[in-house]
Amino acid sequence: MAQEKFDLEEALKNLNNNPVPQKKSGTIKRKTTLKIKPDYRYEACNESFPCANCKKMISPEGAGTHHRNHCPYCLSSIHVDNEPGDRKSDCKGIMEPISIWVKDDGEWSIVHRCKKCSKLGTNRSAADDNPVLLMSIAVKPLAFPPFPLHLLDNIIKKD
Ligand SMILES: [Zn+2]
Ligand SMILES: [Zn+2]
Repeated sequence: MAQEKFDLEEALKNLNNNPVPQKKSGTIKRKTTLKIKPDYRYEACNESFPCANCKKMISPEGAGTHHRNHCPYCLSSIHVDNEPGDRKSDCKGIMEPISIWVKDDGEWSIVHRCKKCSKLGTNRSAADDNPVLLMSIAVKPLAFPPFPLHLLDNIIKKD
């Protein structure tokens, strides 16, 4: 295949026909705005967004934490992280609150389970979490015992 000769004159002519846009003094204009995705491992989320589960608007205020990671109304979350805060999961399933984990220092965390892929995760309870729902999740195993409660009575009487 014959190689085309580089025509310097032609190239210069083309260059002059397509001049590089001149920068206006004092302003820098970008054609495309570079959007850098926030890294929630290091920075707070300051946006309001609708809950994917109950559709109520969730605002960053009132959580008592910089990392609002679940809905304060229905306590659901979205599976967005592989590691906490990295936003690297493509699952995007709704993570439902299934249990409460009380840490050694007494702090409550919500145990979430993804409805799509069954991944488990924990989120610290926030200051404005629905207290009734928190309590109902916490007592659920006791409210639905795996055996009739009167059997406990028999065991106690034996001792
Ligand atoms: Zn919700
Ligand atoms: Zn998932």
